[in-house]
Amino acid sequence: MRLILFGAPGSGKGTQAKLAGQELGIPHVSTGDILRQSVKDGNPLGLKARAFMDSGALVPDDLILDMIGGRLGRPDAAAGFLLDGFPRTVAQAEGLEALLSGLGLEIDAVISLEVDPEELIRRLTARRLCPKCGAIFNLAFQPPKTEGVCDACGAPLEQRADDQRATVENRLRVYQQQTSPVMDFYRTRGLLKPVDGSRSPEEVYRSFQAALPKS
Ligand code: AMP
Repeated sequence: MRLILFGAPGSGKGTQAKLAGQELGIPHVSTGDILRQSVKDGNPLGLKARAFMDSGALVPDDLILDMIGGRLGRPDAAAGFLLDGFPRTVAQAEGLEALLSGLGLEIDAVISLEVDPEELIRRLTARRLCPKCGAIFNLAFQPPKTEGVCDACGAPLEQRADDQRATVENRLRVYQQQTSPVMDFYRTRGLLKPVDGSRSPEEVYRSFQAALPKS
């Protein structure tokens, strides 16, 4: 199964992708996660991507397409994958289509998580992350048991630099301007499956499953 999970920052893409990746036995490929790891490692990709990410702008398409080509060429992606946070522009969607068609492959479905913009701002500015084990909390609806401390490993929680309000608003603007055309790209191909992302993660996941093509 080759899937794309589509949705604005804060729409719950990461949570749904993890659930689906585990159940379907396919790797969850998040471009945001790969880029953050590259920045942490200080590798050439990370050094180039950092300034774009810190300001909430998109990283240039050529860098992203090189990165995704490398990732999808790895053996664990041979039987399928779930893309999270990619493609974000029409050029990326076209690049992905060319990459896959060269291998005789195509995307099976694009799940789009639909959430109201005000709700997205509320969710994103309340998000907290454990830098040690990667656990994600939300002060609004999934707070840690002890304030500021990770439930899983006890490390102090942090706010991602790009989750602060001004940056969040910019990310949503960028999303609206640049990413919405990608929805049209997949809609015209009959692959776009909208799912109401405003409900609990479990309810959203049930709709996600219902939207997958039957094998
Ligand atoms: P995310 O965790 O998906 O919200 O991504 C965090 C940041 O990484 C974004 O704000 C962008 O700067 C960058 N990024 C992630 N995925 C992409 C992509 N497909 N194209 C361009 N930039 C990306």
